[in-house]
Amino acid sequence: MSINATEWIWHDGELVPWADAKVHVLAHGLHFGSSIFEGIRVYETARGPCFFRLREHVERMFDSARIYRMEIPFTREEVERACHEVVARNGLRSAYIRPVAYFGYGTLGLDPAPCPVGMSIAAVEWGRYLGSDAIENGVDVCVSSWARLAPNTVPTLAKAGGNYLSSQLITTEAKRHGYAEGIGLCTDGTISEGAGENLFVLRDGVVRTPGSAASILVGITRDSVKHICADLDLEVREESLPREILYLADEVFMTGTAAEITPVRSVDRIPVGSGGRGPWTQRIQERFFGLFDGSVEDTRGWLTPVEEA
Ligand code: PMP
Repeated sequence: MSINATEWIWHDGELVPWADAKVHVLAHGLHFGSSIFEGIRVYETARGPCFFRLREHVERMFDSARIYRMEIPFTREEVERACHEVVARNGLRSAYIRPVAYFGYGTLGLDPAPCPVGMSIAAVEWGRYLGSDAIENGVDVCVSSWARLAPNTVPTLAKAGGNYLSSQLITTEAKRHGYAEGIGLCTDGTISEGAGENLFVLRDGVVRTPGSAASILVGITRDSVKHICADLDLEVREESLPREILYLADEVFMTGTAAEITPVRSVDRIPVGSGGRGPWTQRIQERFFGLFDGSVEDTRGWLTPVEEA
């Protein structure tokens, strides 16, 4: 997967040509991982291009910044507006939007206080993160030899650049061994999440997912799935999960803005259930993707039409 360049990037408050959205090599964020970011999708819907849960993503970005005492030099409304602008001006009908804020060039030391906060928002076309047939057929995953970030070390509720060193170790190890994705365990050996996705396990008609203290990023797709399960009268429990539940589950799926809702068909080469997409996973997917093709009503106001520039 490579990036399909678009014409414009929103860069520190204005749209600039793609090639001009540059950062100084001494930016603090580049050296120390002190950036925070989001990934947001725009779907081509029956109502035209719509953001999926734009407000919640912008809110999480400000939450991430708060943990690091980073002052984003724009308001939430300005950031939302900028997201509209970058999608509309690039003429995108569906898109993946990547806002990033970072401590810029100002010191070679650790304390970012002297560094200005820069912010950019790119929007690109992007297909299926885990492969084109992943949504229907599922993916093969493994449990990583790398544990996730331990509690009170690097905070996982912040979507910060530095956290993704952990995700990179997990996903690159998995791919080296022929898997589509890796699952990270917490340092106590219980299940945390995928390298860039939350994880759900279904057994005996109950859905389980690790709670917010399980070294996860609390995903917005995860939250959406919890609501969808409620609509389907499917019980969801947030609880600490042992690794081996993955080998005993009837269904396993992963969720994320990039991965959407992706079934897991095997873990460590042990088939999940009968080894393909499970019936509940399919029902949950239908409720999710139905929002975009218009077959499911957007009762919660998750869709925001992209405003013309
Ligand atoms: N965990 C991690 C580590 C992630 O990077 C992501 C993707 N943002 C998720 C979970 C899923 O979050 P969301 O559904 O909000 O995209």
